[in-house]
Amino acid sequence: MSEKLIELAKRRGIFWPSYEIYGGVAGLYDIGPIGVRIKNKIIELWRRYFIYDNSEFVVEIETPMITPYKVLEASGHVENFTDPIVECTKCHKIYRADHLIEELAKINVEGLSPSELDRIIREKGLKCPACGGELGEVRLFNLLFTTNIGPYTGNQGFLRPETAQGMFTSFKRVFEAFRQKLPLGIAQVGRVARNEISPRQGLIRMREFTIMEVEFFFDPESNVNPPLEKFGNMKLNILRGEDKLKNEKPKEYSIEELLKEKIVLNPWMLYWMATAAKFVTALGMKSYYFEEKLPHERAHYSKQTFDQIVVIGDEKVEISGHAYRTDYDLSRHMKYSGQDMTVFKKYDKPKTIKRKIVVINKDSLNKEDKEFVKNFMSFISSKKPEEIEEFINANEKVNGKNISNYVKILEKEEKVNGEKIIPHVVEPSFGVERCLYLTLLNAYKEKEGRIVLSLPKYLAPYDVAVFPLLEKEELINKAKEVYNLVRERFDTIFDDSGSIGKRYARADEIGVPYSITIDPQTLVDNSVTIRDRDTWQQIRVNINDIVSVLERLFKGEEFNKVGKVINNENE
Ligand code: AMP
Repeated sequence: MSEKLIELAKRRGIFWPSYEIYGGVAGLYDIGPIGVRIKNKIIELWRRYFIYDNSEFVVEIETPMITPYKVLEASGHVENFTDPIVECTKCHKIYRADHLIEELAKINVEGLSPSELDRIIREKGLKCPACGGELGEVRLFNLLFTTNIGPYTGNQGFLRPETAQGMFTSFKRVFEAFRQKLPLGIAQVGRVARNEISPRQGLIRMREFTIMEVEFFFDPESNVNPPLEKFGNMKLNILRGEDKLKNEKPKEYSIEELLKEKIVLNPWMLYWMATAAKFVTALGMKSYYFEEKLPHERAHYSKQTFDQIVVIGDEKVEISGHAYRTDYDLSRHMKYSGQDMTVFKKYDKPKTIKRKIVVINKDSLNKEDKEFVKNFMSFISSKKPEEIEEFINANEKVNGKNISNYVKILEKEEKVNGEKIIPHVVEPSFGVERCLYLTLLNAYKEKEGRIVLSLPKYLAPYDVAVFPLLEKEELINKAKEVYNLVRERFDTIFDDSGSIGKRYARADEIGVPYSITIDPQTLVDNSVTIRDRDTWQQIRVNINDIVSVLERLFKGEEFNKVGKVINNENE
């Protein structure tokens, strides 16, 4: 089915390989005029679920694609953003080693080390599928695209592989400017680049794509809980790591169970997974589940990861990733930049704490000679009160004299208003083009030998198409009138080329839910037909009512309840 979709996408201006006139580059795609419209609607839908519906604690920012070396060194990508590759010693074709093994030996080897993959290749006697040659040694390949910033060769940078680092490095600014309170979500929609080894068909594995991410910062000790009640008694399909090892299928869990049994480690992560479930349902997906990654399958920064997997026919594709990044990123940036990335957590009421302090007995110290004072001071100077206390208890000596004669530890009560903490982070992350591709694949239908893109109405590139039935001036003028009337309220396209059958087919193929046709009858009684994309039924409606009828249809009223059905009058 994906071949048919790719063919349709090229023909109808949804997407096609970039730089085609030069033979194209694997993994790079242009999104065409129809594709851009659908893609923008997907992004807007995501914004609704992830940002607008959570606007009390989520804001959106934009940060650059070009990233200094230091930032991705701190984030661990320079070291860890790698995939295993293997080269044929004969034809020198390069494969992604884990995918090759999965394809040839039908076993899951995600996350295994190069040496383990190597062993499996030798054990199973796997050869180059292209020429049958011997495969070389598996090694790691870094997927970051490198560049130079400015005219200085020493100033290496990268194209970002995720938008996340922009949100981490700007966290303090957003925190100060926006809420000065946790939790705080920073969202971003932007281009990213990954030098994938084997880009796959369509928009599934690209080398440059658009990502939609939220970095959600929270205090893991806080009693501010996510508003999980808004999901009612929603259930999620989850494939737990332990069940995956037993080759079991995903199981259904209530939000409560997932939380209580700590199947999802963190309530905020669960909140965003449930939000992702709603969003993916709104894309039209009927079947999906969350697969827990095993420790060796997780990214270097993650304590727990779930991939959301969409199932369409026999295709299973990851549409989103949910990672509990803990305080990994902020701590690393704090270390590498030397900047304070903590936030001050104010207590509800001041706490009284006991603090140990060091008190030096000056009278007895003054009686000692300079040499002793020097040695004694250097002994205690860099030690914490607790350490000194241990030395006192152990009768520690300086120059043969018990230190307890010169120093004692007292406990003092202090009132504190709060403490500095490094927030923890959970991250839901969606690839836009994957959403687009899967939405299209899911919407692709064939009816009586014709293609219908049965997109959810709110994702269609246009809401309405307007056609004059015949190439007659009077009909064209009337159709333009209707077009101008309707487009004030709806995304509308006008089409007067070719037979009406061809125009209906074109509208169906790009998923326009309703087509309005102006025919000779219109000139008599001011009525037009509206045709439904999915059923091909038609109703006749007066032009004066057209906007309100369309509004009712978009609200979900049944087609044959809003006008008189007149089957296929103009087909
Ligand atoms: P990741 O950061 O690897 O978890 O990726 C987050 C999301 O981006 C995935 O769930 C996919 O939807 C999407 N994605 C990742 N890699 C690619 C790619 N090479 N091409 C297109 N989309 C991708």
